[in-house]
Amino acid sequence: MSDNQPTILVTGGAGYIGSHAVLSLQKAGYNVIVFDNLSYGHPEIIKDVLKVELIVGDTNDRPLLDQLFSSRNITAVMHFAAFIAVGESVKDPAIYYQNNVVGTLTLLEAMRAANINKFVFSSTCAIYGTPQEIPMTETHPNNPLSPYAYSKYMVENILKHFDQAYGLKSVVFRYFNASGADPSGNLGEDHTPETHLIPLALLTALRKRDHLFIFGTDYDTPDGTAIRDYIHVNDLASAHILGLKYLLNGGKSEMFNLGNGNGFSVREVINMAKKVTGIDFLVKESDRRPGDAPMLVGSSEKAQSILGWQPQYSDLETIVNHAWQWHQKRHGNS
Ligand code: UDP
Repeated sequence: MSDNQPTILVTGGAGYIGSHAVLSLQKAGYNVIVFDNLSYGHPEIIKDVLKVELIVGDTNDRPLLDQLFSSRNITAVMHFAAFIAVGESVKDPAIYYQNNVVGTLTLLEAMRAANINKFVFSSTCAIYGTPQEIPMTETHPNNPLSPYAYSKYMVENILKHFDQAYGLKSVVFRYFNASGADPSGNLGEDHTPETHLIPLALLTALRKRDHLFIFGTDYDTPDGTAIRDYIHVNDLASAHILGLKYLLNGGKSEMFNLGNGNGFSVREVINMAKKVTGIDFLVKESDRRPGDAPMLVGSSEKAQSILGWQPQYSDLETIVNHAWQWHQKRHGNS
């Protein structure tokens, strides 16, 4: 650990986006402590790749957080720990509100007690609901359609009120479709169960699955399939470093979209997965997935102008290629 650099607590640092943020923080010279309950995170990534201090704990555990904040000189918190499955949140909203809202409130209360007042938060474009305009900006009306989206929306409001009342400064990032992997191939996306399009396509290419479903071919889009804005996970990570620096330099609370501003259809993504892997795989057409919007594309001009953020890996081929390097390494031989 460097004595001169601030120490950043990263909750959910053993997960997909959190682990990439930890790597970026390390490369930028920060001291990092990961706090993760390992319900979905991968401890081997912490041990073998990031080689960072891990505290196994839950954000609902106030005594553990108090002990941590009183014993370590933590300057800011990046909060990635959350449940993320929209469908599951509809079936079991209680765990989403307990983990994503109550857990975050507990974390914020522990921070407040320890006079830590800088917070970077993972939110989602799902808080906008069905788009009324494309690309969506931060001023788009909010209409979260699932308990998952609502849990993020509630935390955004908690942060707004904590700033007004207690001076807690936060940067909120509303992600579009996080995708890709670190180019090293050592970090990447590995959810159980996997629900996301790019990893499912690559797992199908690897013959870990028989086929891939296209959920909906009757959307009002050029090829009938839904359009999303895929943003490379390392570009998300670099935004987090800029957001942290912004707060450390005294910036006021802000929220930012993080997307590429380009939309790709499900068919375009599948064709790219076939091109990158050089493997043909079985694709079946299926009904729409409940709750899916036809098109989600974001404007990230605000992050570009205020934070100076510039995505480095905005073309789909690079995103899928990096994800493929990771998937081959992770799943290729098992
Ligand atoms: N999708 C699909 N087949 C799958 C998984 C996803 O057609 O097996 C579609 C999904 O309906 C959406 C897009 O791919 O239109 C991206 O879905 P993903 O779950 O990756 O991210 P989301 O947009 O739901 O956050």
